[in-house]
Amino acid sequence: MNAIPESVDVALDSPAKTNLLNFDKPSLEDFFTELGEKPFRATQVLKWLYHQRVTDFEAMTNLSAALRHQLVDIADFCLPEIITEQLSDDGTIKWALRLDVGNDIEMVFIPEGTRGTLCISSQVGCALACTFCSTARQGFNRNLSTAEIVGQLWLAIERIPLGRRVTNIVFMGMGEPLLNFDNVVRSAQLMKDDLAFGLARKRITISTSGIVPAIDRLREVTDVALAVSLHAPNDELRDELVPINKKYPIRELLAACKRYATVNPGGKITFEYVMLEGVNDSPELAHELVRVLSHVPSKVNLIPFNSFPNSGYQTSSQQAIDRFRDILSKAGFMTVTRKTRGDDIDAACGQLVGKVADRSRRYRRFEGKPQ
Ligand code: SAH
Repeated sequence: MNAIPESVDVALDSPAKTNLLNFDKPSLEDFFTELGEKPFRATQVLKWLYHQRVTDFEAMTNLSAALRHQLVDIADFCLPEIITEQLSDDGTIKWALRLDVGNDIEMVFIPEGTRGTLCISSQVGCALACTFCSTARQGFNRNLSTAEIVGQLWLAIERIPLGRRVTNIVFMGMGEPLLNFDNVVRSAQLMKDDLAFGLARKRITISTSGIVPAIDRLREVTDVALAVSLHAPNDELRDELVPINKKYPIRELLAACKRYATVNPGGKITFEYVMLEGVNDSPELAHELVRVLSHVPSKVNLIPFNSFPNSGYQTSSQQAIDRFRDILSKAGFMTVTRKTRGDDIDAACGQLVGKVADRSRRYRRFEGKPQ
């Protein structure tokens, strides 16, 4: 496993200017206070940026001329660059975004009825080595800054087809969100803030492989929805599939989940369970899962395995998935099987890879806005 850095430098900041996309309200208030301005400047600027989508400081007419000029000199609003945009037959859109040279990430928009879910990345690559995930295969480069996380939502809003909205955000793209704690939390705050994106907390989901101390810290600073990638009901199997389990075993993980459930919207933690044929999909394991989850307010999301080259796994048969679901449902757990979306463009769970050598072969470019 690669070393996990505590914090990594912000790439979208040019050395000379401060990227305002990195700030939530409290940190933007500090920024203005340091400039000798009143904190309410933060509210004014956030409204320009997020409500009006005005990023030209000179056009922010309720700021003094002197402050406008000063902002032009010292600040900017810098977004990731869209490299490719792919549209799936089912309406799913995948973007490759460039953060800086050698650091590309992917994000995915999944429309369903009036809902629109944006799946965003929190790290370039991933330091965890979950055996069934293609992001894990490419190793870890660095954490995303707040600007690079929030910038994904900003860009998606600009690019999605007319009449579509981003109603839900899931931190289920590349990376382990809780190993980029501060930037993920600050981004989630901006997503919730009425001065910025104004999303309800139940519509923002942080998915984790189970970084136990970070789940407890999260509970102290936010109240968005938590999803946990469980994938196995016992340590022996989970040690193999999700190796971070050796550090934070199931008992400790579920205890932290139970504590988080007290702030989780709706009170129930979502447990994700990838369905791997012959590995974790037997009725015996379903019964074992019922037992281990019996003391945690939970619902279960079964994810048919999405394949990628040399994964070494097969997805479970529909029959095995249904049987597994029925055992959980009969035991009283709300259980849904996640629909596979966008797999024709490798946009499904666990298929996001960002920078890869064979990019040119698999990517096609769209001109203009997809309809
Ligand atoms: N690191 C975070 C979020 C990223 S992955 C986490 O582990 O939760 C989002 C979900 O997709 C996780 O539940 C992950 O286990 C699952 N996933 C990863 N690879 C997959 C694959 N090949 N097929 C189906 N689901 C996969």
